[in-house]
Formats: sequence, C-alpha cells, structure tokens
Amino acid sequence: MPLQCPYCLSLRNRRRNSAIQLGAALGTVFGVGCAVRTPIVKSIPAEALAKAVLESLRAGMKGGLIGAQMGEHFDEQFQTSKRCLNCGQTFVVKQTSN
Ligand SMILES: [Zn+2]
Repeated sequence: MPLQCPYCLSLRNRRRNSAIQLGAALGTVFGVGCAVRTPIVKSIPAEALAKAVLESLRAGMKGGLIGAQMGEHFDEQFQTSKRCLNCGQTFVVKQTSN
C-alpha cells in the first residue's frame, strides 16, 4: 500500500535510507582506520606505501558494505524515513508490529 505524504498528500515518495548511508560512512571510516596501522616511518618504500593505500581502500570498502547492511537492518527494524518526491518534505513512517 503506497504511503501518503502528510504535507501535500502525494503518493510519490522514496525511502531515504538514512541509516544505510550513515552505516556505510561509519563502516568506511572504521575500515580505513583499522587498515592504516602501518607506522609512519621517515623513509617508507613506495611499494609498501602503495600496498598500504590499497589495503586501506579495500578495508574501507568492506567496512562500508558491512555498515550499509547494518544500517539497512536498522531501517527495517525500527523506522523508515521517506522523502516526498512532490514537495521534498521528509517524514518518518513508524513500523507497527503485529
Ligand atoms: Zn509531499
């Protein structure tokens, strides 16, 4: 059943996925933060530096994916935020459990 915007009563709205975006961002930062454990030495070889950068990017992507999945779960379990495609207002749809 389509949800109606409480402001303009339009039926055109889209899920905002705010928790998914937040989870992805936090997961990316956490993943990169965990990967960048290489102590900064004055003369770090270029090959080791490139490897460390690639490793941190890969960890960041992994962390982002995990964070996005956690955020999606959070959105589904608790509340869904919607943005009206007609007037641009956002509103929260509370899940009813029965
Ligand atoms: Zn609206």
